[in-house]
Amino acid sequence: MGAARRVNPKNNDLGKSINTYKVNNKKTDKIRLRFAPSPTGSLHIGSARTALFNWLYARKTKGKLILRIEDTDRSRHIEEAIAPIIESLKWMGIDWDEGPDIGGSYGPYRQSERTDIYTKYGQKLVDEKKAYICFCTPDELNARRKASESDGKTFKYDRRCHSLSADMIAKRKKKNPYTIRILVPDNKVFKFKDEVYGNISVNSDTIEDYIILRSNGLPTYNFSVAIDDALMEMTHIIRGEDHLSNTPRQLLIYSALGIEPPVFAHLPMILGSDGRKLSKRHGSVSIGSYKEEGFLPEAIVNHIALLGWAYDEKSTIFSARELIEKFSLESINKKGARFDYKKLLWINGSYLRKIDDKALKGMLLEKIHRYMDSLDQSMHLNNAPNIEETVEKMIPLIKERIGTINESLEWVAPFFAKIEYSQEMIEYFDKKSIEPSMVLLKICRNIKSLEDSFISSEIEQILRKISEETNIAFRKIAEVLRIALWAKKVSPPLFDTMEILGYQTVIERIYDYLGIISGK
Ligand code: GLU
Repeated sequence: MGAARRVNPKNNDLGKSINTYKVNNKKTDKIRLRFAPSPTGSLHIGSARTALFNWLYARKTKGKLILRIEDTDRSRHIEEAIAPIIESLKWMGIDWDEGPDIGGSYGPYRQSERTDIYTKYGQKLVDEKKAYICFCTPDELNARRKASESDGKTFKYDRRCHSLSADMIAKRKKKNPYTIRILVPDNKVFKFKDEVYGNISVNSDTIEDYIILRSNGLPTYNFSVAIDDALMEMTHIIRGEDHLSNTPRQLLIYSALGIEPPVFAHLPMILGSDGRKLSKRHGSVSIGSYKEEGFLPEAIVNHIALLGWAYDEKSTIFSARELIEKFSLESINKKGARFDYKKLLWINGSYLRKIDDKALKGMLLEKIHRYMDSLDQSMHLNNAPNIEETVEKMIPLIKERIGTINESLEWVAPFFAKIEYSQEMIEYFDKKSIEPSMVLLKICRNIKSLEDSFISSEIEQILRKISEETNIAFRKIAEVLRIALWAKKVSPPLFDTMEILGYQTVIERIYDYLGIISGK
């Protein structure tokens, strides 16, 4: 088996070239992939990576990407999860060619609407003696499992119902619930070459006659997925390595149906920065929360693409177009991929710096308006400068320092909203040799002359003069002022931001801080 290999381009009527590929020894001009989420929650990093890799490969090979909703497990199914999953995919720029929302000729694309298909194929396999009806109840099976385990054996269904006569089956079917089990052929080796994990072979005696149709008529995952992948003519299955162990069970279905299986490529597990399986303990894991945190979709796509795939050892920044061009199944590796939040911040920052100021202004304005609307009116500043002008002036001052759009709030909000001083900032000068009240009062007295023309260069001159007169290092004077005005040890350029803040707010903030430190 092998990944799709291009055979020869031929021309269609429109003069466009159609690629012909060889998939598992068959020539095909249609590469078909699918993303098949189970709607059990929001789209998380792992599923987003599966969706992305399928999309990249489909777009690269000019194939088709299908969205299929796997919603037959009613106990885990959350109907409301579907719309946010679709929204997150769209936000990432992933589109599909067939799916429940847009239709297509292989539908329906929700497994819950395909149950008659699974019933039909289940029956076909029973008729062909490749599957059989089983009346064993969950309680009986549990008791037998326990008994085997207490003998130190792993339980495997003992085929008790395989030998029932046709008469007996007909009789019992009338009053008993039943499941359908696949009959696993004896002494068969299922071999396949995974594009990432290499040659895998599994002996059939390690697989039990598993249930394909439950007593409620619904299919089990391994059955519905194989039936759908076969009927929807998938050529490639790209999915997480947690499904690697399911593949032989699915190959069994292909083999029973006499259908050539697709190419498989399983993606390595995603780990957190500490090398443990990525989970909530490492921070946000859903795409929706990264969107909320102010990450750009381009950065998320870029970072996720690097989870198990690399172009070379040094390139990090790739646009979606470059990813499509450079992506290949051969360059996916099987080593666990680390999700590194710091790297994501860095990638996001580098995309932010590429955005033109006008677009950035739009994003910042949206954030700041939303933030101000969420604040109580009493927290709004009285003499706040004009929002649009301020954001425009602040962009060159903060563009280089922010990792996400949300981080910009930290720098922009204090122009419009009151600030709060942490205990650390209130006590900051207690153990230092500098007397902050003296410095601040002196600053207030000296900048009075700038009341009508509060310009950064002149503010700086006055502060330098204070430094000379008091013999206090200029850096220390700036530190006192920065903490009084920003409640932080770091800020964007101090004099430029003072000019934007305006004389009135600067004076008010200094007096607020003076009041707080003198009252402590
Ligand atoms: N619905 C499965 C899941 O969300 C994916 C099945 C597959 O890709 O084969 O894990």
